[in-house]
Amino acid sequence: MLDLSGKTALVTGIANNRSIAWGIAQQLHAAGAKLAITYLPDDRDRNKGKVAELVEPLSPALFLPCDVQNDAQVDEMFAAIGQSFEKLDILIHCLAFANKEDLSGEFTAISREGFRLALDVSAYSLIQLCRGAKPLMTAGGSVITLTYIGGVKVVPNYNVMGIAKSALEMNVRYLAADLGPSNIRVNGISAGPIRTLASAAIGDIHKMLHHVEEVSPLRRLVSQTEVGNVAAFLASDLSSAITGQILYADCGYEIMGA
Ligand code: NAD
Repeated sequence: MLDLSGKTALVTGIANNRSIAWGIAQQLHAAGAKLAITYLPDDRDRNKGKVAELVEPLSPALFLPCDVQNDAQVDEMFAAIGQSFEKLDILIHCLAFANKEDLSGEFTAISREGFRLALDVSAYSLIQLCRGAKPLMTAGGSVITLTYIGGVKVVPNYNVMGIAKSALEMNVRYLAADLGPSNIRVNGISAGPIRTLASAAIGDIHKMLHHVEEVSPLRRLVSQTEVGNVAAFLASDLSSAITGQILYADCGYEIMGA
């Protein structure tokens, strides 16, 4: 039986009820973990209100702003966690961003600034959050990030995010090697395509969703809850010997040749 009682988790990346991080937070909560949940602040605090209302049933112990482009805010977030929690056990990195114009069209059109932004928010942030989490993970820990097959193979329109996911997956390996002696494990879940705010920005995403439904061995899309279950497993002691890995939760799509 998967039991996360007595464990604490920091969950980033909830924007709405379609977010993969929402599926993960629900499954961690169901397994008994105590949660610190973050939201991306915006000018009028609309995200704050929306996300607060959504996560209320999970009774998060902490609800904090976190924009990974704001170093001071990230430091404050970890300071608040350090003050409230005896230790941190689980870090869920479930966020990414790229300009819409870099998620379709010609790959050669990607600008230096668009490249920098996508890599900074979507890949560097894993290093940044691991650095903040490490001193709090005094009893070891499990770090989980979300990736996509477009970081390994060319997927039409995924463009700059493919490069970001490739860097993210290599981050997983370097971080696993770096943090392993502190008994902190680092893994990635490569989820199949899901309809979310982030995926809506990818050109012709509906074609990819349809294609996966047609050719994946299970002939369907993965759900946020199913990704949440994989995250709960990776967060638990049941996966205590697994680190530096990318696990595919994609209804088997990755094994197919076309
Ligand atoms: P989503 O839009 O619900 O989540 C993306 C999150 O990133 C949002 O909560 C947003 O607030 C956050 N974010 C963006 N910029 C940020 C910043 N500067 N600081 C902090 N947070 C920031 O979409 P999602 O599909 O649930 O995406 C979550 C993760 O899953 C992403 O890494 C995405 O690449 C990955 N993923 C998605 C799919 C898919 O098909 N939806 C498949 C595989 C992997």
